[in-house]
Amino acid sequence: MKRKTHLAAELSWTEFEEHMGHDDVIIIPVGMLEEHGRHNPLGTDTFIAGYCAALIGERSGALAAPVFPYGYGPEGKKFPGQVSLSPQLLRKILYAYGASYAKHGARRFLFVNGHGGNAGILRMLAGDLWHDYHALCASTEWWQLVPQIKPELPCNDHGGFYETSCMLAIKPDLVDMSRAQDPVPDTILSENIRAGYTVTYKGEPFFAAVDDYRLGRAGNLGAPPRGANEGIGADVLEAYIDYNAGLIGELRKIDLKTR
Ligand SMILES: [Zn+2]
Repeated sequence: MKRKTHLAAELSWTEFEEHMGHDDVIIIPVGMLEEHGRHNPLGTDTFIAGYCAALIGERSGALAAPVFPYGYGPEGKKFPGQVSLSPQLLRKILYAYGASYAKHGARRFLFVNGHGGNAGILRMLAGDLWHDYHALCASTEWWQLVPQIKPELPCNDHGGFYETSCMLAIKPDLVDMSRAQDPVPDTILSENIRAGYTVTYKGEPFFAAVDDYRLGRAGNLGAPPRGANEGIGADVLEAYIDYNAGLIGELRKIDLKTR
């Protein structure tokens, strides 16, 4: 007897067609392969995005597509093991990914983004799929969303306390805490501009693409990984999954014919 599943890849084409007949939502997780400190695996962003998407699907009843494991990340390109697509290519591939589902009825997309460098591309993609398929695309990121829902979980790191905690909650056997290091100190770019987890002017963050500041060192940025634990990770992931499951319920209520 086949078990119930919300993973699109586990359905037959007829089951997929049936599902789309009553629910036009697809969840697409997008990750990255890049350094996350000496203690976390290269696939950290991919593992987190895929894990969350599967549970959001289960909880909301929507289908979750397989995680797309590649992203765009110019900052860490000198680290061994990183795979970064060009932004143009990533936009095209994700467009093809989404359009394939849109051609068979998907009209509401939730992109579960595991990597900051993908954010701008997902925004452009939302415009592409809206204009070409009248498909509504939402995209969320755990490290942006969770601090707003739960200020006690500020999620201010890359491969640091919070992201390592998420990995410990998902795949503890892939985290080697004995290799964890404190992040390198912020790089002073000018009297008032510093580059670290974010780039700041007089302490306030602004966006700038900065390359070499973290190369050849620990690889993690922001809150130090020391003390990372499964419990905090589970809290972060639960807050994110719960918000997104609710969001899908609300997206379903939008009458796209009149929008
Ligand atoms: Zn990450």
